[in-house]
Amino acid sequence: MSIDFVKTPVAEIYGVNCFSNAVMKERLPKNIYKEILAVQAGQKELALEVAEVVAASMREWAIEKGASHYTHWFQPLTGITAEKHDSFISPAGDGTVLMEFSGKELVKGEPDASSFPSGGLRATFEARGYTAWDVTSPAFLKQDPSGTTLCIPTAFISYYGQALDKKTPLLRAMEALNKQALRVLRALGNTSSSRVYTTVGPEQEYFLIDKKYYDKRPDLMLTGRTVFGVVPAKGQEMEDHYFGAIKEKVAVFMRELNYELWKVGIPAKTQHNEVAPNQFEIAPIYSNTTAAVDANQMVMEMIRSVARRHGMEGLLHEKPFAGVNGSGKHNNWSMATDDGINLFEPGDDPASNARFLLYAAAVVEAVDRYALLLRSSVATSANDHRLGANEAPPAIVSIFFGGPLTEILDNIAEGKSGGGSKGGELIKLGVTSLPALPKDVSDRNRTSPFAFTGNKFEFRMVGSSQSIATPNTYLNLAVAQVLMEYADKLEKASDKNECIQNIIKESYGKHRRVIFNGNGYTDEWVQEAERRGLPNVKNAVDALEVLTRSETIALFETHKVLSKEELESRYHIYLEKYSKQINIEAGIIIELARRSIFPVVTNYAGSLARDAASLAAIGAASAAAEKRAKRIADLSSELFEETAKLETVLSEAQGIEDVLGQAKAYFEKVRPAMDAVRSRVDALEKIVAKEVWPLPGYEELLFKL
Ligand code: ADP
Ligand code: MG
Repeated sequence: MSIDFVKTPVAEIYGVNCFSNAVMKERLPKNIYKEILAVQAGQKELALEVAEVVAASMREWAIEKGASHYTHWFQPLTGITAEKHDSFISPAGDGTVLMEFSGKELVKGEPDASSFPSGGLRATFEARGYTAWDVTSPAFLKQDPSGTTLCIPTAFISYYGQALDKKTPLLRAMEALNKQALRVLRALGNTSSSRVYTTVGPEQEYFLIDKKYYDKRPDLMLTGRTVFGVVPAKGQEMEDHYFGAIKEKVAVFMRELNYELWKVGIPAKTQHNEVAPNQFEIAPIYSNTTAAVDANQMVMEMIRSVARRHGMEGLLHEKPFAGVNGSGKHNNWSMATDDGINLFEPGDDPASNARFLLYAAAVVEAVDRYALLLRSSVATSANDHRLGANEAPPAIVSIFFGGPLTEILDNIAEGKSGGGSKGGELIKLGVTSLPALPKDVSDRNRTSPFAFTGNKFEFRMVGSSQSIATPNTYLNLAVAQVLMEYADKLEKASDKNECIQNIIKESYGKHRRVIFNGNGYTDEWVQEAERRGLPNVKNAVDALEVLTRSETIALFETHKVLSKEELESRYHIYLEKYSKQINIEAGIIIELARRSIFPVVTNYAGSLARDAASLAAIGAASAAAEKRAKRIADLSSELFEETAKLETVLSEAQGIEDVLGQAKAYFEKVRPAMDAVRSRVDALEKIVAKEVWPLPGYEELLFKL
């Protein structure tokens, strides 16, 4: 744990706690390592004999490094990771113990998981599910002051094979995409690639605040966000924080965070200040999506635990502070082949250009057709504070492509000549070489929810605290569907180039309404998007509805990603989670308003009134004190009433049985009632003396570290 950062070269520390392919290659017999590679590539199932050898090697490696326990690490639908620890010990019968870990224990675990949400998939009498090793994501060691644990990334499935977690559908969607993307590649004449997978590099935003202030904010502790609070005079308007010099305390934290991540083989790469005060970002180098999903969970966990070691608290919530920039996660996404081709890399010969444009057109079509599904993948009550709430990015799903690329695609769609440097020449895909495509789309559009940035797409609606598994599952699934339709046409075509041209012409022509290169924050765009018929779903409850539609179910079932039943259960769980989150927030609002704010402000109004009376008694000017006392007293009584109203609508919402009806009540009734209380509290905070205010303010939370 205590590493000397100055003396320890990164190369010495990188991956020491990761049971990576490099480690397996070194420690496993050649034939077994080969088997694992084949399993990772989806060519084989993991045989128990192979698992036995891997388990023995993994156990040896982990014990050498001080591990006493192992855990199947998984992501239930709560969105955070779960683990149940088992020790390696096995009594030898003579009072001593052996350290054991079998192949069976490696590949399959049985957590008593009855308390994880299943949306009714598991009857209580059949509460168990099992976890299965996901060989595409490496095992690693987690160290904390209590010891070292071997963590095995797993999928979590019911006894009937239903997905109970976020990993299983992702693995299935990656498989679907692989299948369809390969069909297209083959039709284009590729014979060298044997697998297509998606790569992801998530940029994680977060806040750091001083622990001593955090400990005095029960709202932050219980909900991750401040339910009250006003922006001080020095807000973020100066933008002096963005990319500014990193404070020393934070720099030390970041260094330790990097080392902790490097130790488990997570390639943390960039870090900087973000737009808001005390807001930061960390991004690792991209990797295979399943590994990236797990790594991002670790990044979130590490931000919090390393921050605590430095007397700080890491906030991952999408909107910890009203009126201050929120936090998101830019999901950089691309498609790659196992022999190193990035399918979104604009090429420099006619054939690779055609390939690039075809896959890019598939993304355009997928994003347009499945905009609602993508929107639903980021639908949480926390993210509602960002999306569609005058903040980056808007709730309308659109794609930024930049001028030159849009022009080329437009010209193909319209059967027009090349444009750009190609002048009057007609573009013939696979034959004409295209005008050099800009590798660096330098007019970076920061407002777009889905931006093409050179050789990858960046999905920016993802919330900072959520798992990236679901957004990537839906994205991969949507693209798989479109590629399947392309492949059906391409496989039958005799003239492939002509077919590619026709596909792009038709597909892009029909779906280019989703392209928008302008500023996504303007009202004009909202109106323009409406004219184009693009959906603009502003809240999570409405956004989730798409999961119940028959076309959605058909999409998931076609590619065997989720069954109707599995989707239904998820819909229920997400709605329940939405309601629960708001329920907790409303509860803490009532508690704080009644027991902390109200007593303080009524007392304070009383003392001001007494001051005013004393001043008047000696004939001094007392109007100001009187006015203030009255204003505060008025606001306090409004606060009292609004709190009572909130309590009423809250208990009504709590009494609703139907999950959708309940979520709607939380959205339509409880949230506005919460806002009404907040507006009174915030107005009071602005005029009540700082010494008596019972909570640390935004000034302490945002500017002190
Ligand atoms: P920014 O978008 O802020 O300029 P970068 O271009 O450096 O930042 O990339 C941001 C993230 O995108 C990093 O995590 C990087 O590894 C990732 N990335 C780069 N190329 C790809 C790719 N082909 N697939 C997925 N992610 C990628
Ligand atoms: Mg970015």
